[in-house]
Amino acid sequence: MGKVNQGALVAIVGRPNVGKSTLVNRFVGERIAIVDDQPGVTRDRMYLNCEWGTQEFIVIDTGGLIFEKEDDIHTAVQQQAWMAIDEADVIVFLVDGQEGVNPVDHIIAKELRQRKKDVILAVNKVDDVYTEDIATAEFFELGLGNPQPLSAIHRHHTGDLLDNIVERLDSDVVIEKEDTLRIAVVGKPNVGKSSIVNTLLGENRMTVSDISGTTRDAVDTVCKHNGNSYTLVDTAGIRKKSKVRYGIERFSVVRAIKSIQRADVVVLVLDATDPVSEQEQRIAGMAQDMGKASLIVVNKWDLVEDKSSRTMNEFADEIRERLYFMNYAPILFTSTVTKKRLFSIFELSQAASDENQRRITTGLFNEVLNEIVAMNPPPARKNRRPKITYGTQVSVAPPTFVIFSTYPALIEDPYLRHIERRVRENFGFTGTPLRILRREDDKRKKRGQARRAGQYGSGRSEDMTVDEARAQD
Ligand code: GDP
Ligand code: GDP
Repeated sequence: MGKVNQGALVAIVGRPNVGKSTLVNRFVGERIAIVDDQPGVTRDRMYLNCEWGTQEFIVIDTGGLIFEKEDDIHTAVQQQAWMAIDEADVIVFLVDGQEGVNPVDHIIAKELRQRKKDVILAVNKVDDVYTEDIATAEFFELGLGNPQPLSAIHRHHTGDLLDNIVERLDSDVVIEKEDTLRIAVVGKPNVGKSSIVNTLLGENRMTVSDISGTTRDAVDTVCKHNGNSYTLVDTAGIRKKSKVRYGIERFSVVRAIKSIQRADVVVLVLDATDPVSEQEQRIAGMAQDMGKASLIVVNKWDLVEDKSSRTMNEFADEIRERLYFMNYAPILFTSTVTKKRLFSIFELSQAASDENQRRITTGLFNEVLNEIVAMNPPPARKNRRPKITYGTQVSVAPPTFVIFSTYPALIEDPYLRHIERRVRENFGFTGTPLRILRREDDKRKKRGQARRAGQYGSGRSEDMTVDEARAQD
């Protein structure tokens, strides 16, 4: 039970240079909880998971929406930007208050008006609060209601803008989570997603719950398998076939983001007859970034002639190589023709979700951490050796561990990956990403200061084992 986010989406639109990315960065600065503060696997991450007040939503910077040249309108990037706009619940149309109305603003405004979207017209770079009325006045002509003044750089009215956004999001965006496992089946077009979903639903289909409100056209389907309830997320999106408007680019990154965000488990479907593509790496990266339990399904296995276990291993190796950052996801070889192994998706999803929700006690975790550190301590950097004192699991979904040490900045990624590997060897966590964060051990620091100040007369060595540290806590 609990809140489940229904993937409300806010798109920031505007010409280049009006301050879109500055604004998004200000949102981060406002201490909106960024769900994940680690750098994304995908370099081109353009979305942020935000929380303001009681609402959660995704903000997308449609940086690629450029109108300078007519020809550019049909590039894939622009298609993705338009798809983002079509999927968005609220659009922030950002214009430049110092430059005034630009002809391109009129083109964008016209498109937005035609699409009948809920638009907040925000006039950025109004750095001087005394000129707000003058700066915004001319933007009335865009026909999108009251222009709202803002200075992303000076943080004037950025909180008001967030309030305004949240007011427009339906309150039923957040629904009480039923006792069901939410599975998002994602992948590039033509790999067999709708065939898989149809087979899984079979005659077990229970209800089609049309979630009204913000995610108007997202249809989730609930079904039962072996007595357990499963919800297949956005079955409408999976079945929705090419929209003529977007031409060949009928895969919507934004739609995938929304589905992934709303799911407990992500089932990434690949085609056994195709090599792993960049688009698929990107989807996998999103699932990893969002900390979701994941499963890799290699479909159309019936089309592979040599089905020996050797071939399976070769396939698995290649997938592991291309999706190296998702090495925790089980790989399943399926066919909607023979239906072989297809229904294992349910059990494997449940298992992955259980691991995603799993907690390890601090005692047990430190036993393992102690051993890892004893066998292979973090390497010294700049003549300093970080000393790991203890660690603890701070959250689930995904399981997140904090490692306390001296000089945490000197503990580098390869060492964190080493810890992650050893943690997995000991605890499993199959199917879920893990987060391992570094933190300064404050208590140690204070003790050190006190000792140096002569208040700590024991004269004990700076070196302390995990056990000693724990004993002191
Ligand atoms: P984007 O291309 O729309 O993402 O625009 P950027 O965020 O990269 O900003 C473009 C330029 O406008 C940068 O030089 C920013 O520093 C500047 N800028 C952004 N917001 C403000 C603002 O509130 N006031 C002023 N004076 N400049 C701003
Ligand atoms: P989606 O675009 O990912 O939803 O893919 P579809 O479910 O529409 O499937 C695309 C095509 O692949 C259709 O012609 C399906 O009949 C076919 N297909 C789906 N699954 C399999 C499979 O396991 N084996 C074979 N041989 N064809 C499949």
